[in-house]
Amino acid sequence: MIDLHSHSNISDGLLSPAELVAHAAAHGVRVLALTDHDDVDGLAEASLAAKLHGIQLVNGVEISVTWKKRTLHIVGLNIDPENEALKNGLHAVKQSRFERAKLMALGLEKAGIHGSFEAASFNAGKSILTRMHFARFLVERQFAKDTKSVFKKYLVKGKPGFVDHQWMNLESAVRMIVNSGGEAVLAHPGRYDIRRTNMLLLLEEFRALGGTAIEVVTGSHTPPQFVEYAKYAQLFGLKASQGSDYHGKGISFMEMGRLPALPGNCVPVWRDWPQMSEMFMN
Ligand code: AMP
Ligand code: MN
Ligand code: MN
Ligand code: MN
Repeated sequence: MIDLHSHSNISDGLLSPAELVAHAAAHGVRVLALTDHDDVDGLAEASLAAKLHGIQLVNGVEISVTWKKRTLHIVGLNIDPENEALKNGLHAVKQSRFERAKLMALGLEKAGIHGSFEAASFNAGKSILTRMHFARFLVERQFAKDTKSVFKKYLVKGKPGFVDHQWMNLESAVRMIVNSGGEAVLAHPGRYDIRRTNMLLLLEEFRALGGTAIEVVTGSHTPPQFVEYAKYAQLFGLKASQGSDYHGKGISFMEMGRLPALPGNCVPVWRDWPQMSEMFMN
């Protein structure tokens, strides 16, 4: 019923913001956050569609961050998409994605794959340029059988299309989210290659910077990870979030409307949101 992480074709999802909202409504979701990568341009359309379908839209974003040479994702919930600092910050990321894509194409060129920048740009249209747009091109050209194997062969560390990109730092991302009135949530902590000691450091730093929640139940966590991250949340006094991370048919971790409940020891991130009491009172 509550899904606080999803993507439209404003980033690397397949559905337009309005189609995504309709899809969510059809699958029983009543509160949906649209959290496109580094872009808030889909929120206006999603908000209109949400009114039409009688569901509550939470304004969101998923910001790419570099922390200790790793890429992390920070979800912002209830952000103000009109906030100037946020808009400027995200605009800079969009530009840097463009530069990164050119370097990715150069790497692929050396591996004998031509025209990937043009094709990925075409796939992206007005959207931000992501590795997913390169992946679709590589699958179309049959360099691999599906997105998953394309990433493995071409788009991850050590592979021809990978570029070690410098994203925003953690402090700036959390500050931008919080200053625009939102809450910063550490996305899918179980997906990072981080051992316990560094996870403790990360959560300590994230909380000190003003982060308030972590994703406990997400499409990319296993059930044992639900339990593990519920414990981390409890240890740090952080709230817990849940979201499918839906991207579209065939490229998602799970279908919408299928999220299991948060473990009992969690404080839901939405506990004090005024719009939630309105939603569930009528
Ligand atoms: P980017 O932000 O441009 O690096 O693109 C990353 C996006 O590609 C992520 O948000 C995922 O949707 C997708 N992605 C990353 N790694 C993989 C993978 N191993 N298999 C499939 N999709 C992936
Ligand atoms: Mn994605
Ligand atoms: Mn993510
Ligand atoms: Mn995501």
